[in-house]
Amino acid sequence: MKKNIKFIFWFYFSLFLLLIIHLVKFKVSDSSDLISNSYNPRLNSIEATIKRGTIYDRNGEALAYSEKISGDEKYIRNYNYPREFSHILGFISNGKSGVESKYNFYLESLHNELFQRINAVFNHSELTADSIVLTIDKDLQLEAYRLLEGKKGAVVALEPDTGKILSMVSYPDFDPENISQNWQELSEDEESPLINRASQGLYPPGSTFKIITAASAIENIDDIMSRRYNCKGEEYFDDKKIRCFNLKAHGNVNLTGAFAYSCNTFFSQLGNELGGEKLRLNAENALFNKDLGYELEYNKSSFALTKYSSQSEIVETSIGQGKTLATPLHMAMIAAAAGNNGIMMKPYVLDYVKTYNDKIKNQTVPVMQAKPFSPDTAYEITQMMEKVVEEGTGVQAKIKGVITAGKTGTAENSSGDDHAWFVGFAPADKPKICVCVILENAGSGSKAVPTAQKLMQRYLEKS
Ligand SMILES: [Zn+2]
Repeated sequence: MKKNIKFIFWFYFSLFLLLIIHLVKFKVSDSSDLISNSYNPRLNSIEATIKRGTIYDRNGEALAYSEKISGDEKYIRNYNYPREFSHILGFISNGKSGVESKYNFYLESLHNELFQRINAVFNHSELTADSIVLTIDKDLQLEAYRLLEGKKGAVVALEPDTGKILSMVSYPDFDPENISQNWQELSEDEESPLINRASQGLYPPGSTFKIITAASAIENIDDIMSRRYNCKGEEYFDDKKIRCFNLKAHGNVNLTGAFAYSCNTFFSQLGNELGGEKLRLNAENALFNKDLGYELEYNKSSFALTKYSSQSEIVETSIGQGKTLATPLHMAMIAAAAGNNGIMMKPYVLDYVKTYNDKIKNQTVPVMQAKPFSPDTAYEITQMMEKVVEEGTGVQAKIKGVITAGKTGTAENSSGDDHAWFVGFAPADKPKICVCVILENAGSGSKAVPTAQKLMQRYLEKS
């Protein structure tokens, strides 16, 4: 009998212990995942009692906030610039996306739960969750949106030495406040307004890819800086014909001249000499086929050459055509690395989390994501990019009193007219901003230059 009682005691004690362990584990580790999971139906009840945190820009201006409508117990989410920030902030109904989704845990969490709940009971104060402060510059974002509005495409601006995203705009856009009502229409729209073209849009990089081909040539071909070549406007590689834009013959060019005027025959010649394997190494060092480390939704860029690739594939790829696909975010990171002594920083949008009583926590520390270029190669590429703006295809990027570096791209694609690309940074010797612009089916790369120029100039005037 005594033995039985002892057994029952230990049996229930063990069960109780398991329960405690489970609760502690839930509180410590699983709750973050559960709160972050946008398909958790209990979220709606949490949202009804806790005031969701505010999302601020880098200067403390509110972008998204929650408030109660009088007579209603439920909070509603408001956006001060709904369309301008639609892709970066995302939405909280019909699943979640963007910052609203990624940082849902903070935006739903009370920093000091016990104290805040007691305070709410005695002082009738609101239960306010943590807020988020972003790296985005609201004014630059609005300007980027204004410049892009009505054209299909994307703009990314980032700070080369930290990886802070200053602006990210995609068009067409959507209204996050009416997402539920318009969900079906938005998700079936052939123009894909829900896709963030800046980080998810995969495009042939066109001549912006010559940054990678040039880096590979500098690192692998000894006499590359003194090499000269006579461009006749087109060149055959077996049965593959490579043409310069508008069949223009660039004449006798060196690497710098070929880069500045975007000579395709020169670069396809280089690609042919380098071969698929060397180009792939340089492309992958610059994170093609690799993770970018970006915290929000994005797609990996792809590069398909190997040592077994055919000559026609290699020459096409070396000028940014073929099967290569890149996102505007990634091309901005590559250009920024050239301006940052060859170091590519991990891109980020969360600067820090702010508690209900204005304490800073979880501040992001900038970290290196990759080293695509040696300092010497980065220097040479920057010089060539300066030449593009000084006298080449990117002259419209000139900023008065500031040396600017850039590269244009005209990307042939299966969806119609060429896409226009531009990536650039300023000041060239110590860049504060790097901008990438893509305009779908806009024709030649020069069409993308004025947008980037205006954004860089505006940002430099302010900072
Ligand atoms: Zn040429």
